[in-house]
Amino acid sequence: MVSAGGWDLDEIRRRADIVEVVSPYVRLRKAGRRLVGLCPFHKERTPSFTLDPETGLWHCFGCKAGGDLFRFVEMIEKVPFAEAVELLARRLGLPPRRPADAARQRARERLLSIHEQAAAFFQAQLRGDRGRHARAYLTHRGLSEECVREFGIGYAPDAWDSLLTALGKRDISPQELTRAGLAMAKDASFYDRFRNRIIFPICDMTGRTIAFGGRALSEDQQPKYLNSPETPLFQKGRTLWAFDRARRAMADAEHAIVVEGYLDAIACHEAGLPHAVATMGTALTADHVEMLRRRVDRLVLAFDSDSAGLAAALRAEQLFQQAGVDVRVATLPESLDPDDLIRSKGADAFRELISQAVPMIEWEFNRILARAEGKDERERMQSMREAASVLARVAAGVEREYYVRWLAQKWAAGKPDRVMAMENAVREELARHAARRRSGARRNEEPRPSGVAAEKRIPGRPPAGKVHAALLAAFLQRGDLAARYARQLEAADFPTQEQRAVFEAVRRLVDREEPVGARAVLAEAAFEARGALAEFALDEVPEERIEESVASAVQRVVELRLQRRQRMLLQRLSEAASGEEREAVQQELTEVVRRRSELAGRRIVGDT
Ligand SMILES: [Zn+2]
Repeated sequence: MVSAGGWDLDEIRRRADIVEVVSPYVRLRKAGRRLVGLCPFHKERTPSFTLDPETGLWHCFGCKAGGDLFRFVEMIEKVPFAEAVELLARRLGLPPRRPADAARQRARERLLSIHEQAAAFFQAQLRGDRGRHARAYLTHRGLSEECVREFGIGYAPDAWDSLLTALGKRDISPQELTRAGLAMAKDASFYDRFRNRIIFPICDMTGRTIAFGGRALSEDQQPKYLNSPETPLFQKGRTLWAFDRARRAMADAEHAIVVEGYLDAIACHEAGLPHAVATMGTALTADHVEMLRRRVDRLVLAFDSDSAGLAAALRAEQLFQQAGVDVRVATLPESLDPDDLIRSKGADAFRELISQAVPMIEWEFNRILARAEGKDERERMQSMREAASVLARVAAGVEREYYVRWLAQKWAAGKPDRVMAMENAVREELARHAARRRSGARRNEEPRPSGVAAEKRIPGRPPAGKVHAALLAAFLQRGDLAARYARQLEAADFPTQEQRAVFEAVRRLVDREEPVGARAVLAEAAFEARGALAEFALDEVPEERIEESVASAVQRVVELRLQRRQRMLLQRLSEAASGEEREAVQQELTEVVRRRSELAGRRIVGDT
């Protein structure tokens, strides 16, 4: 069974009473079989925090937080999963099972403790005599004393071994400091990694220091920013600076601001935008996006307009689209970062820019349009082609249509008779793009197992409609309906990983002819699915008309699958190289169309 840190999770779940765990934080009252209360994770006046004592699952219908016992402790105590387990296990007086896990846990604790002591050392140095010029620098950058304290900023003295010596006195060996990324070894001797630098502690989600970032104090010092290396505690691509401080505010603001450096993030927090986080010398990674997506579905990038980070973000547009995050870009004046801007123009001006952030693609269009302004016709047409090639990345549909018109209007520059001509020009360019892509695709075609090829070509995943969530909620509430319908569905019909995991658990129970219910699915489902599971299990579906709505939801989901299949086949048909291939695709297509019309009650389905 699943275990963490050597503890048996099932045993903890069995022995701990979730009501007892939750009660100190939430005043619960009975509502039918459930308990409800004011959610401790977001501000609210009417209770949307719901707990089912029977399954031990909880969910907040306001902020969408939810999960099991462990998830509650993770969130309320702001600790990582392993620690939440440990905390509960200790409370119940359970001993760890595997010595190896206990040892790993001890090593981690030691590393965290070293970081904590180093942070205290750097902070003391900043306050002391040696920190005078560092303090002057921070004041010059406009950082108040309070802010320095708040963010735990420190100073690494201009010496080879000040940290080594100070922590050495506390029995932390040079080897340990090296493993922690705080010292370096050369020719059998050791020296401090951070010297004569302003030190910014880098924290995990729970606010524990896991690494440091150091900013050079003198101009000739290279590099300007130096971070801890990756350690068992710290991975750059999985850490966002100030995330621990920003996560609450993000939920309130319903978006997150992403900037590129410590000072930018601090400037945002100081300017009353506490929902800002910073990347640390890397582009936004898929892990970053995932961290943020769990909190908000809108990001505002406030990067210097000619930064490499912004260019990388633009290239990563598909990553955002897949994650279902709406990414907007705030247009900062040329070569100003948020810190510069707030200091020169004031917090209000910056907040204004954030509120005017536009969708990523619009930002790109604006940039192209701005470059074309005042140029001759030939150059203007050239930039129109550039814009069309950007637009070609958007899948054909409502959004693309919107921008075709948007661009045409911009180019027509107030002359209504030109709008149509410009619109046609954009469309022609899009068609040329599609043709180029098709011929390119043909050239690169290699024989592939047909299943894999088919999967890859499905344009987009199934849309994350409410229908899928409602269906799973109904299955958990009415096991008989799950038994009746689950076999008609496939895991791939569900848009999110978590929904797929819940469905797979339902399906396994149905296949084994075991009763389906929240408790059984909880035991069966992949552990990662517990958040989604809580949501579905606690989402009460009204009993009246439940059978009808499940039947129509199943039909809808199957219909969506056939639609995807049809689209994919049509694309393959247009790209088929040989008559033989075309014939095979055509046959399959006929079958799909037949099934769709059958599903629609013998209605002829001719649309594509
Ligand atoms: Zn909530």
